[in-house]
Amino acid sequence: MRISVIGCGYLGAVHAASMAELGHEVVGIDVDAAKIARLAAGEAPFFEPGLPELLRSAVASGRLTFSTDMADVAGASVHFVAVGTPQLKGSYSADLTYVNAAVEGLLEHVTAGDLIVGKSTVPVGTAERLAAQIDESGTGAMLAWNPEFLREGFAVKDTISPDRLVYGVPVDAEAAATAEAMLSEVYATALEAETPLIVTDYATAELVKVSANAFLATKISFINAMAEIAEVTGADVTQLADAIGLDVRIGRRFLGAGVGFGGGCLPKDIRAFTARAEEIGRGESVAFLKEVDAINLRRRQRVVDLAVDALGGEVLGKKVAVLGLAFKPFSDDIRDSPAIDVAVRLRGLGADVVAIDPEAIENSRRLHPQLEFSDDLETVLGGADLVVLVTEWNEYRHLDPEWAGALVGTRTIIDGRNCLDPKAWRAAGWTYKGLGRP
Ligand code: NAD
Repeated sequence: MRISVIGCGYLGAVHAASMAELGHEVVGIDVDAAKIARLAAGEAPFFEPGLPELLRSAVASGRLTFSTDMADVAGASVHFVAVGTPQLKGSYSADLTYVNAAVEGLLEHVTAGDLIVGKSTVPVGTAERLAAQIDESGTGAMLAWNPEFLREGFAVKDTISPDRLVYGVPVDAEAAATAEAMLSEVYATALEAETPLIVTDYATAELVKVSANAFLATKISFINAMAEIAEVTGADVTQLADAIGLDVRIGRRFLGAGVGFGGGCLPKDIRAFTARAEEIGRGESVAFLKEVDAINLRRRQRVVDLAVDALGGEVLGKKVAVLGLAFKPFSDDIRDSPAIDVAVRLRGLGADVVAIDPEAIENSRRLHPQLEFSDDLETVLGGADLVVLVTEWNEYRHLDPEWAGALVGTRTIIDGRNCLDPKAWRAAGWTYKGLGRP
């Protein structure tokens, strides 16, 4: 099929490259000329495992092209909208400026029978409004909503072999059948592999995405709330998670107590959900998400408080080695990263923060020039008064406490992800502090 992808960020670039990998002819469009230049040269503009290989081969084959000119969507019949929907400044709501601009731009170039497919995460009701606008345009194009569930770090695999596909299609039966058939041609490979498919209305499709993220955020904040209780009772939240996680109705995944969630999705999506629920008169239905958010943000302060404590209350001029900057491993994404938040707060208190991350230093330096960075672990640990692990990259998970102990000034570590073995670290003479563990 001939496909266009509007917005080539973390979602769109992976989607465009993956669709080309599946044999489609794809054009990726973005307003960011620098990003498009790199993509057109077959280079990934951000870190995502597997993406550089995919881009190189798809661009070389000619199946994947990139442009800043929306007119280049002409000839494609399926147009994915994958632009950002960030949190509006000073509000909990989603900023739909980019989605609106992308659809308006597309309407100047689509032709009868084309399918515009929303992939961006949007407040429920957005698709219905856009569908009315598309109808009124007289272009003869249609709208479907196809939420995306990829995880950064596993985005290529998640796009080529998703664990489910959801299509939100128009009410009109004929239009619905056409939209479903077109999307099923796009996703033929995944469907042949028996990927579960749910075909539904626009509102359900939009809500599947935000409720999935709300559920995951709630699961993380639930275990972090238990960590808060464990901290005053002497219980161990990691053992608690193991024990409750053995109940198949609960499950162990997403029960990792620590510094909490971040990134470009969960925090802004739960906030946008509460804002939208209030607009439609159902604020109370998801009011608990405000508590989920508050628990999550408290964990960042908890790490800072533990750090101040560990430094004996005197932070000024102390060297703090911060391990990790990305919001999670296998990504260079620092949007709303708990690691960055902790590093910035410690710096704000006067600590000499030196931070390291295998992929996210460049992004961090651009936005947080007040922090010091090094890509050499020995330099970062050298003479440190305190080590704070905030992103559980494998290189930090598997750090040898003896080796690290010989470098630091003081053997004190805060394990903000509960990913180290406290016994091994204590045996090597370290003061070890986890979150919600004695
Ligand atoms: P991003 O900021 O990395 O990318 C958005 C891109 O859209 C940018 O490159 C920007 O330049 C471009 N853009 C903005 N306006 C444009 C326009 N009018 N025309 C063309 N391009 C335009 O964001 P992202 O992380 O890729 O997220 C995109 C959407 O996908 C969001 O709604 C997000 O919630 C959703 N989503 C993201 C993920 C993820 O893991 N990143 C997963 C699922 C869903």
